[in-house]
Amino acid sequence: MKVALIGVGQAGGNVTERLARFDADMGFEAVQGALAVNSAEADLQSLEFVDTLLIGADRVNGHGVGADNELGAEIMQSDIQQVLSALDGRVTSRSDAIFVVAGLGGGTGSGGAPALVHHLQRVYDVPVYALGVLPGRNEGALYQANAGRSLKTLAREADSTLLIDNDAWHEQGESIGGAFDRINDKIAQRVGLLFASGEAIEGVGESVVDSSEVINTLRSGGISVLGYASEVASEDSAQNIRTVMSVARQALLTGTSMPDATKADSALLVIAGRPEAIPRKGVEKARRWMEDETGSMQVRGGDFPLESDRLGALVLLGGAERSDRIDEFMDRAREAKKAQEDERTDPAEQFTNDRLENLF
Ligand code: GDP
Repeated sequence: MKVALIGVGQAGGNVTERLARFDADMGFEAVQGALAVNSAEADLQSLEFVDTLLIGADRVNGHGVGADNELGAEIMQSDIQQVLSALDGRVTSRSDAIFVVAGLGGGTGSGGAPALVHHLQRVYDVPVYALGVLPGRNEGALYQANAGRSLKTLAREADSTLLIDNDAWHEQGESIGGAFDRINDKIAQRVGLLFASGEAIEGVGESVVDSSEVINTLRSGGISVLGYASEVASEDSAQNIRTVMSVARQALLTGTSMPDATKADSALLVIAGRPEAIPRKGVEKARRWMEDETGSMQVRGGDFPLESDRLGALVLLGGAERSDRIDEFMDRAREAKKAQEDERTDPAEQFTNDRLENLF
């Protein structure tokens, strides 16, 4: 599928840059335009591969908003015309979708991304999705509370919010900061494959995926989740049937961007590899297994022909908000928000203030 990407804030810019670079390196040409928007000039200066736009200079003079996501939302609202103008020519009649990319725990992306999605929905006919990075468990309470409000507002504004938990794809024992590069690589590879899977050349695979299948999988709105796993392919087709089952299981059960999110309204299973190594029987078996496991009767399947000695399974879940992991995160965000308010408010007021509010 042809996409336009807009990264907001530091994580948003970094992930957008990595995605654009991966797409270009692989020659997929799914990413049509990529723009990074930030209120912190220094963060934009470290980006080399995407166009950049500084917003809010009149308010914060290029120094960013700290972790104040209300200010992040305000700045996006007041500079929205500049951002929309910068997108001219990047979102074209060939675009299948727009993705707004942001870390949800900070300020500029956390507040700016929902405000930007809101405006894009009014201007463009194509679906507007968010790609949101959730803070890891050991990032501070302010980050959890910010991400809770940002997610709540995104879920209202975006056609679907693809969530990546910063704890999901990083190696054990690694500090989060030091791990960003590796996490971003994984995001770029997986989300990049998802974009490119709707771009597969017709006639090469037996049943290639179309961009409408990605869009239909995300049609139920709410929260979506992506999973991936791969193993070396074999010369033996019976072995490849087992491998396809094995990578599909791992992609869903241990490889998703939100751990433990397996229940969904709809799903898409893409098997990537050399066309002659992809066994029809294995793909069908894995697809049926996925129907049982996700509790969804709408599991789409397809091939992604790719020159590789491995077989990979990419799983996209749509309408995946019923997961324990997401409940647990929203509880954490509510608690953090409540703790902040307890510090500030009269104890008698607490009871009316214990809900996460929308950002705007
Ligand atoms: P902003 O610039 O104000 O939008 O805030 P940041 O993007 O710096 O931080 C928001 C969240 O994203 C926090 O939870 C950070 O830990 C996380 N984050 C920051 N940079 C990156 C990055 O490059 N990759 C990933 N995966 N997460 C990041």
